[in-house]
Amino acid sequence: MFVDVHAHLCDSKYGGGIDSLVRAYEEAGVGIVINSGYDVPSSERVMEQSQKFDSMYFSAGVHPDEAKTLDSRAIERLTAILKDKKCVALGEIGFDFYWNKSTEEEQIFAFEKQMELADHLGLPFVVHSRDASAKTYAFLKDRKSLINKGFLMHCYSESAEMARLYEGLGGYFSFGGVITFKNAKKDDVIKAISPERLLTETDCPYLTPHPFRGQINDSSKVVYVTKKMAEVLNKDVEEAEALIRENTRRLFGI
Ligand SMILES: [Zn+2]
Repeated sequence: MFVDVHAHLCDSKYGGGIDSLVRAYEEAGVGIVINSGYDVPSSERVMEQSQKFDSMYFSAGVHPDEAKTLDSRAIERLTAILKDKKCVALGEIGFDFYWNKSTEEEQIFAFEKQMELADHLGLPFVVHSRDASAKTYAFLKDRKSLINKGFLMHCYSESAEMARLYEGLGGYFSFGGVITFKNAKKDDVIKAISPERLLTETDCPYLTPHPFRGQINDSSKVVYVTKKMAEVLNKDVEEAEALIRENTRRLFGI
C-alpha cells in the first residue's frame, strides 16, 4: 500500500470532483491519504471530504501565509475540527519568509498557539518551513516541551545536517515530487535520515513528479515518489511501501 501523507484535495483546482480523485488513487494502490487544510474554511472542507472515504484522513491548521486569520473565533472553530475522529494531525503550521503573506509577529503567534493546541489535544503536527531553516529549528527547540507526539517536516528541503537536529527533537520527514526531478540532488539527504523517519507525499495539486511535470498533481502520483525513494534507499518498492506504511502508523496512529 502506498501512502500520501500530505495532499490538498480540497483545492479549488479540482473543481470539487473528489470522487474521481479517490477512485484514481485507490486504483493506483494508494491506501492512505492525509488531506490537509491550510486555514479554517479549508480545514472544514477536508474534514467533510474525509468522512466519505475510508482511505482518507485529514490534518487541520492555519498555514503561515494565513497566520493573520488566526483570531480567537478561528481558534475555537479549529479546536472543534481537530477533535473529529478522522483528524490525525494539526497542520500545516510554521514559517514562510519567502512569500511573507503574514507578518513575522503573526506567524510566530500562529505557530506557537497551534503547537500548544497540538500538545493539548495529543496530536502530532505538520511543519511548513520556507526560507526559514535556522528560525524554524530554533523555534521548535525552544518549545521542546510542546513536542510530545512528534512532528513532520513536510516537503523537506533543508540539509542532512539540519535533518539530524530535527530528528533529535522527534521529527519525521516527507518528500514529494521534487525528488524525482533530474536536478533534485536530494539523494544524500534521504540517505542521511533514519529510515524509520521517512514518509512520502504529493503536496498536490502542486509539485507534480516527473514525468508529469506541467500537469495538475494528485495523490495517485505518490507511487512515483515512492519508487524514487526505493531506488535511493536501494530497496524493493514493496520494502519501501512497508517501511513508509509502518512510519505512518507510528507518527499518525493510522
Ligand atoms: Zn501543503
